This record gives sequence, C-alpha cells and structure tokens, in this order.
Amino acid sequence: MAAEYYNYIDGEWTESDETFETANPAAPSETVATYHEADVDDATAAVEAASAAEDEWANTPAPQRGAILREAATILADRKDEITDLLIAEEGKTQAEAGGEVQRAIDIFYYYAEKTRDMGGSVKSASGPRTNLYTKNEPVGVAALITPWNYPIAIPAWKVAPALATGNTLVLKPAKVAPGVALEIFKALDEAGLPDGVANVVVGPGSTVGNELVVHDDVDAVSFTGSGQVGHMIYDKATDDGKRVQTELGGKNPTVVSDTADVEEAAGIIANGAFGTTGQSCTATSRAVVHTDVYDEFVDAIVAEAESIEIGPGEDSDMGPQVNERELEGTLDYIEVAENEGATLATGGGQPDEFDEGHFVEPTVFTDVDNDYRIAQEEVFGPVLAVIEVEDFEEALETANDVDYGLSSSIVTNDHTEAERFVDEIEAGVAKINDKTTGLELHVPFGGFKQSSSETWREQGDAGIDFYTIEKTVYDS
Ligand code: NAD
Repeated sequence: MAAEYYNYIDGEWTESDETFETANPAAPSETVATYHEADVDDATAAVEAASAAEDEWANTPAPQRGAILREAATILADRKDEITDLLIAEEGKTQAEAGGEVQRAIDIFYYYAEKTRDMGGSVKSASGPRTNLYTKNEPVGVAALITPWNYPIAIPAWKVAPALATGNTLVLKPAKVAPGVALEIFKALDEAGLPDGVANVVVGPGSTVGNELVVHDDVDAVSFTGSGQVGHMIYDKATDDGKRVQTELGGKNPTVVSDTADVEEAAGIIANGAFGTTGQSCTATSRAVVHTDVYDEFVDAIVAEAESIEIGPGEDSDMGPQVNERELEGTLDYIEVAENEGATLATGGGQPDEFDEGHFVEPTVFTDVDNDYRIAQEEVFGPVLAVIEVEDFEEALETANDVDYGLSSSIVTNDHTEAERFVDEIEAGVAKINDKTTGLELHVPFGGFKQSSSETWREQGDAGIDFYTIEKTVYDS
C-alpha cells in the first residue's frame, strides 16, 4: 500500500479534494505515495497560523525550543531506515546517498538544538558609567521556506531547524517531485510537541501555493533554494515588498586539474563529483578544466571511471536513475546539443539497454569542449561532464571563472602556490583543494557568487542563525 500524506496546518493534518501520486524513478509503474495537494487557501491559512503562533514561540526560552528540536532529531533517527527507504523509492538515490542525506537532516536538527544554548549577541564596553551595553538576536517573524526536489530532506532541514531554533514560525513548501521525506520532518516535530501553528507545510504548485507565500503580507523572510529562473523572480517580488530574502540557485562547477596532479586521483575525485547523485546536485562537477600536459592521460582515466559505474535501482547500485522523465529528457537534450556543438562524446550519451523501465542514463563524458559551448555554460542537472583543455594555470583560472555561476569549485594539484592562488582568485562560494565540488559540512556557511546566490545571506552554520535573526542593541543604564 502506497503511503498517504497530508498538509500540516496549525497542528492539523488536513485533507484536500485534489490528490496526486509520486512514482518510483527506477520503476515508474510503481506508485510510491499519494499526496493531498494544497491550494492557495491552504497557503494563506498556513501563513495565518504561523503569524498567530509567532509571539508565543519567540518568547519560549531558546533552550526549550532546542529541546523540541532534539526530540524531533531523535524521532527521525529512530525512523532513519524507513525514511531512507522512502527517499530511495521516491527519488531514486542510492542506499549510500539516501542514508547519508537522512543522517545529515538528523545531524542538522541536533546541531541547531545545541545552538539554542548560545543564540549569539555580544557584550560591549559602554562609554558611560554603570551602563550595560549588549546586543541580542531576535527572530525575524514568519519565514516562508521554498525548496527543490534534489535534496528533499536535507534542504528543508537546513532551513526549518535554524528558523525554529531562533524563534521564528514558518511555512515550508517543498517541491512536488519527492515531498514525502520533508513531511516526515513535520511528523517528527508534531510528535516532539511543537506547539500548533509554529511549523506548517503545504505541498502544492509553485506558481500558486509558492507564490502566495512569497507575496503574503504576514511573511517577513523568504528562503528559497531552486533554479535561477524561479529564484530571480521570487527575489524581485519579495524584496519589493521589503522582505528579507535568500536565494540559493544553480551551479556550473569546475574542477581544475593541474599538470602536477596525480591524474588517477583527479579522475576519481571528478567522477565522484560529476556522477554522484546522478549529477542532480547544485554543486555537481560539470566542467573538468585540464592542463594540456595531462589531458590525454586524464581523458583515459575519467572514461575508465565513468565506465566502471554500476547503474541501477538505488538499493544496490553506484548510480540511480534521474528523478523523472522531464529531468531525463533535459539531460538527453543537452547531450544532443553538445554533439551538435562539436564536442566529442568520449563515453555514455544514452540510456543503458538492460532496463525495461526507469529514467536511467549513462554517465557521460564530453571532450574537446570549448568553454563557450552551452554544455560548458548551462546547468545540465544530469550525469554529464564537459572536459576542457587549457594551456597553463592562468588559462585554467580564467576558464573556471568564465561562467555566470559561482557556487562550488575545486582544484587537484600538488603545487601549494597554485592551490593558494586558486582559493584567492576563484569566483565561487566554495573552494576545495584536492577534493570534489560536492559534499558540504553542516557547520560552515554555504552560498554562491554571481548567479548562484543572492550573495547577501549564507545558509548553514552560524549563517543560518544570522538569516533568521535581527540584532537589537541594548543600553541598560
Ligand atoms: P525549481 O526552481 O523548479 O523549484 C524550486 C521550488 O520553487 C519548488 O518548490 C517549486 O514548486 C517552487 N516554485 C516554482 N515556481 C514558483 C513560483 N512562481 N513562486 C514560488 N515558488 C515557486 O527548482 P527544482 O527543479 O526543484 O530544483 C533544481 C534546481 O535547484 C537546480 O537549478 C539546482 O541547482 C538548484 N539547487 C540549488 C541549491 C543551492 O543550495 N544553491 C541546492 C539544491 C538545488
């Protein structure tokens, strides 16, 4: 029996007339879950509930808020296996990817639960006598959280947990593609004793339900993760209304391979970054920028890596399917574009023939790519790597930076000076040395440069606290 999920508004699981189903990307004829679809009235009701709950939650001592987050984390941890199975079935992730993501969500809740013992603020020396001069952090108010499908539990967690820890109330609107695991967070919060109305979730279309959250007068802050197309529009609307806005968008992430690199190691790192999560990661490695002296050796090594990847349903493979037909078609279209542009297909490029159904696609490597080809400039969001040959380190840096995006980046090198220059000169929010572009720590800030982020705010770690709080300065004489 497929699971059935409801919206969660003012502490109630609410039914809708409209429902929709999700399918297993590895076996699309299999229904995974049925969802009650929210409409604009539900979104309005959810914002009103969050608004009504605002004062009481803001005035709840922070460590008490933390105790509820800690309990929710423990409930999620107790259910880790079943939530992982749901993520594999609904999104097509591998066992390792899904298990790792669910664990990340649990860790985020524990992390922000601890943070409630120290909500920031600082004591300063006053110029006058017997004056206490200090700052304190207050919640922003009602937060609208809009999330994509590709990390359907980790991204909601990294918005919901800091928003609640800092005393905000919220409405989450996850993507309709694989929302089940996000709803599991709200089940855990409900069972952990979160007061009614503090956290609400509505599953519905972005253009109506999501839009209502962005434009509603009672919403004070909007945190969006998703595509640039939607993110820029939301940013303009919400800032026009004077709301605090954070947008975390796409990437076209390079890994530079130096002539000093261990080429086998570089190929392993890049294969992992490009083909992990089937390339459906905002930080996925999509460009390998390779020094001419090691180019041929690198191409052989990356092709061997790609061809060694076992494709199949998430339970027992290295790489699962794409999440749905639309994403698969998008990847296949880009493969055609790259071939027409003149890139050389070194391996992959199609769907493996051993499956009767499922949105599977082969790990694909293009060589002889010019950095101005669309395959080197636009986000594919599938397991496709563009390999670009450069003459020297200067050209590598210039090429790595010559895109509109600036989310993650890395260099594989044995030259320390090169590594330092890369860190200083790369236009990206994340710079890694001898590591893949994917994979983030939860306690350090995350965000992009250029078109990858609104730049003003970061997420995760202390940056999560900053976005959801306003600083007040107190003079106590
Ligand atoms: P998307 O932009 O299509 O949708 C994201 C969310 O916005 C969904 O919940 C959707 O329903 C909602 N939405 C759509 N139209 C809306 C509107 N008019 N008003 C309000 N909400 C609306 O993105 P997606 O396809 O779900 O996710 C893939 C994208 O997300 C990729 O571009 C990827 O790079 C990006 N992403 C970025 C990060 C990051 O942290 N930078 C992380 C993960 C994914």
